[in-house]
Amino acid sequence: MDYQEIVKNTKALKIEPNFSNLKKINREWSWDNIETDLDIPEKKFNQAYICVDRHAEKTPNKLAMIWESADGNIENYSFLQFKNESNKFANAMINIGLKKSDRVFFFTDRIPELYFACFGVLKAGGIMAPLFSAFGPEPVAERFNRAEGSYIVTTPNLLNKIEAIRDQMPTLKEIIVISHRSEIKHIKNILHYHEIMKGQSEKFEISESKKEDWSVMHFTSGTTGLPKGAAHVHNALISHYATGKYVLDLHPEDIYWCTADPGWVTGTSYGMFAPWSNGVTSVIYEGGFSAKKWYGIIKRHKVSVWYTAPTAIRLLMKAGSTLPQSLNLESLRYIMSVGEPLNPEGVIWGEEAFNLAIHDNWWQTETGSIMVANYPSMNIRPGSMGKPFPGIKVAIIDDNFKEIIEPDIEGQLAIKPTWPSMFKAYWNDEERYQSRFKGEWYITGDRAKKDKDGYFWFIGRDDDVINTAGHLVGPFEVESTLIEHPAVAEAGVIGKPDPVAMEIVKAFVSLSHGYEPSDELRRQLIGHCRNRLGPGTAPREIEFIETLPKTRSGKIMRRLLKARELGLPEGDTSTLEDD
Ligand code: AMP
Repeated sequence: MDYQEIVKNTKALKIEPNFSNLKKINREWSWDNIETDLDIPEKKFNQAYICVDRHAEKTPNKLAMIWESADGNIENYSFLQFKNESNKFANAMINIGLKKSDRVFFFTDRIPELYFACFGVLKAGGIMAPLFSAFGPEPVAERFNRAEGSYIVTTPNLLNKIEAIRDQMPTLKEIIVISHRSEIKHIKNILHYHEIMKGQSEKFEISESKKEDWSVMHFTSGTTGLPKGAAHVHNALISHYATGKYVLDLHPEDIYWCTADPGWVTGTSYGMFAPWSNGVTSVIYEGGFSAKKWYGIIKRHKVSVWYTAPTAIRLLMKAGSTLPQSLNLESLRYIMSVGEPLNPEGVIWGEEAFNLAIHDNWWQTETGSIMVANYPSMNIRPGSMGKPFPGIKVAIIDDNFKEIIEPDIEGQLAIKPTWPSMFKAYWNDEERYQSRFKGEWYITGDRAKKDKDGYFWFIGRDDDVINTAGHLVGPFEVESTLIEHPAVAEAGVIGKPDPVAMEIVKAFVSLSHGYEPSDELRRQLIGHCRNRLGPGTAPREIEFIETLPKTRSGKIMRRLLKARELGLPEGDTSTLEDD
């Protein structure tokens, strides 16, 4: 198959897209116009106000959220209900002592109250910091402490994990537990969502909220050190709204479904802010992946715009195209994907299964919103991430941080600061924040190239960060957990290519004196990591080796471990420690 071939994409255009000419919109682009379009009253520059209250005033009865539980119960919430519930939570939080820019962590299932509470925190001036609910206790404590958090909101099934680490989080003031389904017994030292909400007013006046006030924090992994809290400000909403309108192509009548969990940035920027700032009805599904259930969601709720991820698409491909074809999912008009490279086969399979090519786009936690995309109005090239969003200068640069103008040359993917949703800090780590900016560029950490027509093609990470099922895992975090085990002397962790998850976490371990390699020990080590880190972050494979390759300064050479694993040339080994 010629992957460079342009796919004609007329089927995605069931309705007039929000723009039809990329060149024209690029020429005319101004972020100020977006702000004018949003028309936000002074002092109310608040993501929650823009997403919820504005629509509650204009279209109070319009559905904001269609929620389906894992066992199939459906609940609907209007923008007005959303406003009232989030106002009550804002009042409740102020009541229990929340101060401006306090960090409130969310470690919950995807239940309606999670969304009310997140918006309540934003209204009350706090910073919302959602975490993936499959994390083990250690990543939770680590992230909470990095951010010097004040509150954790959780659900009964996850409460044990929090209670286990309560003593390790000195800045923690309160744990708030939400039970969506039933009343739970009162537990000492734990606040209950429904109790603190009782008697709270449905009115809440957002006190002065400015564009540059902190709003959201997501944690992301780097090569060295533990995860960093990338912090964003309310102004990011300008990017969420604009990309929601022009990349997601949201129209008021759309029913939109983003499959990402709010523990990851896609689940907030595009699971919450982009659809709701555009006043669009969003489907939230509590359950996990299942081809049959997912198609059921699309069919039942008449989803028209669907944003998902390559790992899910590969799993759907495995389940075959007969099912989606037989279901006749005629409401769907536009599908997008993000988080990992979308194989050309995935794009083309979309045509077969849904009569719609799948549109890839690229961005990351730090950019806060989509930077490169295939737009509905543009011909797409399977395997390409597309073209930059209007107003964003994306470039391929060389190792001296100079832009490479000639086409098809590999280099670092870089973006010229600044744009509304650019991260404004790694919390409490100015040095690492500054290290991401070189010359006139923000360095993304990815390698890519650009073809002569301006399409960008992803090549790979420029560092050792692992992308497993669209979630970044820092090797250092896994190595640190492994060496806590008495059997482990040293550990080196890499991403091993995988046909479904793109990469899986693989660890190389050298054993402490007195321990022998065995399957039982391998199982024990995997179990130890799963308990501490959670199943998504723990290694799936462990290989015992005598010694790990290290530089003369003692750093583990993960690059070499990976080359050996893949049977590739070992490259420059001049810094390798002598045996
Ligand atoms: P995160 O910050 O967790 O959202 O992860 C961002 C990283 O995921 C990027 O820096 C890329 O390495 C990868 N990524 C995201 N979207 C794509 C895409 N469309 N194609 C290839 N890699 C992607």
